[in-house]
Amino acid sequence: MEKISVGVRFRPSTSSSHSDSSRQWQISDNAISLCHLNTPISGYTFAFDHVFDESLGNAVVYRVLIKSIIDAAIDGFNGTAFAYGQTSSGKTYTMNGSEMDPGIIPLAIKDIFYTIHKTSEREFLIRVSYMEIYNEEINDLLVLESQKLPIHENLERGVYVAGIREEIVSNAEQVLQLLKLGEENRHFGETNMNARSSRSHTIFRMVIESRAKEEDSFKEDTITDAVRVSVLNLVDLAGSERIAKTGAEGVRLKEGKHINKSLMVLGNVINKLSEGGKQRGHIPYRDSKLTRILQPALGGNAKTSIICTVAPEDVHVEETRGTLQFASRAKRITNCVQVNEILTDAALLKRQKLEIEELRKKLMGSHSEVLEQVLLKQRNDMHKSELERDKLATELEEERKARYALEHRILEQQKKIENLMNLSVSAHFSNVCSQNKVGERSGTPDGAHFLAFDDLKTPNFKCPSIDFVVRRPSYKELESSPIPDNFADVADEDLWTRLNKGRVTDLEAFQMTPPFPVQEFPSSETSLIVPSNEEPQATNYERLENDLHDVQKQYEALKEQYSKLEEENNILKEEKIGLTDDVACFENQIDQVKSEKQVLLKELKEEKRKLNDLREEVRRLITTFSQKEGMLTSLYSKSRAFVENTKTASIAPHE
Ligand code: ADP
Ligand code: MG
Repeated sequence: MEKISVGVRFRPSTSSSHSDSSRQWQISDNAISLCHLNTPISGYTFAFDHVFDESLGNAVVYRVLIKSIIDAAIDGFNGTAFAYGQTSSGKTYTMNGSEMDPGIIPLAIKDIFYTIHKTSEREFLIRVSYMEIYNEEINDLLVLESQKLPIHENLERGVYVAGIREEIVSNAEQVLQLLKLGEENRHFGETNMNARSSRSHTIFRMVIESRAKEEDSFKEDTITDAVRVSVLNLVDLAGSERIAKTGAEGVRLKEGKHINKSLMVLGNVINKLSEGGKQRGHIPYRDSKLTRILQPALGGNAKTSIICTVAPEDVHVEETRGTLQFASRAKRITNCVQVNEILTDAALLKRQKLEIEELRKKLMGSHSEVLEQVLLKQRNDMHKSELERDKLATELEEERKARYALEHRILEQQKKIENLMNLSVSAHFSNVCSQNKVGERSGTPDGAHFLAFDDLKTPNFKCPSIDFVVRRPSYKELESSPIPDNFADVADEDLWTRLNKGRVTDLEAFQMTPPFPVQEFPSSETSLIVPSNEEPQATNYERLENDLHDVQKQYEALKEQYSKLEEENNILKEEKIGLTDDVACFENQIDQVKSEKQVLLKELKEEKRKLNDLREEVRRLITTFSQKEGMLTSLYSKSRAFVENTKTASIAPHE
């Protein structure tokens, strides 16, 4: 277990009035206090592993806080260093530095190459990537087109950014060149606080692989050692300013919110981790891209240093205090660090790359100047093909997911269409029902013509509104009990009985049932009154006419509803056709990606074959060389013998 190492760095003051202020931050050893007229203010005193005052340059910060992480990364430990603080407090200055005072990243790069060139017993392979998180999206800073990259996780690689470019590098200059390229692509914005304040988090990453050198590295069976793989993250966070203070609006405001959100999540993660032990509970790494990528560095397998940069001016006192509180919590986090040694197939692939490195070393000192360039290119090409293959696999997976989602949507739409069809069938049924009743009331009162029951037995029939039966003490069969005229539109019990398969509902329930839009039933009091024989025929007729009018209206409404449903149905059908086209299109794309993958695989094979050829050629060259060397040695001995003989022959006559 190892604690995160935390340092606080003051940048030089920018305002001339700073020294006149009555409140000032004072540093004594590793403690900082805010003092009012030289008296510490309570609640404003903090202690850290290291405190750097404004007079100290980047080299000191590097030596004290970062160098040990770099050395450990070369030895196979993951390492992370990040700068945290409000905008304009000196984060970018600390990480990148200036021409006169190079920052942590260039110092680390130079140190790494210096150390690995010195380490003769191990061989190294270094890959570099550079990314930014802008508005919660990951962009590749080395390839402008690679935007919005996804984060993936698997057992072999852990958490990683899929599709990011990784360049294999062999010297510091190459890396500095890549760093410059990435810097140019960084997003810069303007706020009131800092004219060139960075609006994104950037992560500069180096993957360092190494393995012990073998005496005879041509013999494959001698490769038995593990490959060490460590990841070094050097992170420059965007500023943690308060939005109100910066006066940000529009795009700037949106950026600010994203920055604040991810820093807030970082704060939450740090808070949780600093609680330690069993109280920790769930750590919300997944709440932001930043914490997800830095997951191993926070409470995981990495040596970590945080440089908290602060501004000394009085106006920034509250931000400075916030940063110092963050730093105090971070100080309590412990990580569990170990060397990453890999013995799996993935490492075998890495070994193949290292073999090229071996070849390069073997060829050194002979006719290999040009070959060295070729080998580096070859190595990068191979790695690129691998990355491309990974990217394609990721794309394929995403396409597949999109296809599933589409298929799911189509299924849902189909269900909806089916439901609508059923609805329209039931609406049609209600129509028939109303019409039959109209016919019955205006025509014959013959019970046999009352309703065509078989029509109603369609399997799709769903008519919940008439799904009830009025309870009546003396229930009679339809044949023997013709329904009185004025009951016709109230309760055709037999019909309901059949529809409900004998289920009986209370009258109260009947009143509570939501009204069926097509058919309104008169209230129980009026409808259940059996008309007396004395009621005048004319009143009856009038009521019937009114009923007929109502039914006609309902019929019109139904018709309208039906045509609307049909329209909707048509729209859904069209949508379904569109979706089916989309699926076909996606399938095409997947096929294309598949064939591209095949081509890439072929190319990869070809590259491997070339590599083998190259190896073969080197073997041949060495054999030829040793043969020639043998020939030369024997020629030399022969000529020496000849000279000796000649000498002896020329001396002999004198004797
Ligand atoms: P941030 O990245 O935190 O927004 P910068 O690194 O851009 O802040 O710093 C803001 C300004 O202050 C820059 O002009 C930078 O050169 C200057 N600065 C920051 N820290 C130092 C330092 N330690 N020494 C000299 N200048 C510094
Ligand atoms: Mg910055």
